[in-house]
Amino acid sequence: MLDAGFFAAWVEEAARSVLAGKDRLTRLDTAIGDGDHGTNLDRGLTAAVQALADHRPATPGALLVLVGGTLIRRVGGASGPLYGTAFREAGRALGEEPGVSPGALAGALEAAVDGVRGLGSAAEGDKTMVDALAPAVRALAQAVREGRDVREALDAAAAAARGGAEATVPMQARKGRASYLGPRSIGHEDPGAASAALLVEALRTVAARW
Ligand code: ADP
Ligand code: MG
Repeated sequence: MLDAGFFAAWVEEAARSVLAGKDRLTRLDTAIGDGDHGTNLDRGLTAAVQALADHRPATPGALLVLVGGTLIRRVGGASGPLYGTAFREAGRALGEEPGVSPGALAGALEAAVDGVRGLGSAAEGDKTMVDALAPAVRALAQAVREGRDVREALDAAAAAARGGAEATVPMQARKGRASYLGPRSIGHEDPGAASAALLVEALRTVAARW
């Protein structure tokens, strides 16, 4: 069972990883957007880590809802409301249970992706964060159904997220700022898909040492 400490460790690892990848995310967003994605997400995750240091909610659900609200307030751009909604929906799906099973984690991340799709109406293939998140959640759910433990399941999810992000390179953007470029958006990894892969990889990293 994954407790609130696990999810707090995930947010800390995600913040570290986005800080380390900030320049790359900024470069990707400079190529097909306005160059603020690395800075935006770093600011939001730093604020989320601080919010958890000030007051760590007792349950995983409440913790993820707090992180979501913080991201909505602090990230800005298109990705702030989208990531904020993802964390909030995951938190809501977990309810008030103190411990999260692999199945419940898969369900929560499915709710997160549904929240992103609901708000941004991007489908897979539109060259957005959904192209990393949706395959990751599918891989996680399948691994859990096959009875694999949470570490193996998150290994599969992280590999699928990275693969999904790489698969955005040849796509033409149909949503968000990059879509204004039309065919000139082809040939670059989507910054939101790249950051989504970092978030899923951070989850795998934390599970591996849990
Ligand atoms: P902005 O484009 O407002 O500057 P960011 O740079 O922070 O916001 O985030 C850009 C990322 O947001 C994109 O790379 C893409 O992955 C994601 N994104 C933009 N619009 C959508 C959408 N409608 N649905 C899903 N993701 C989106
Ligand atoms: Mg941007």
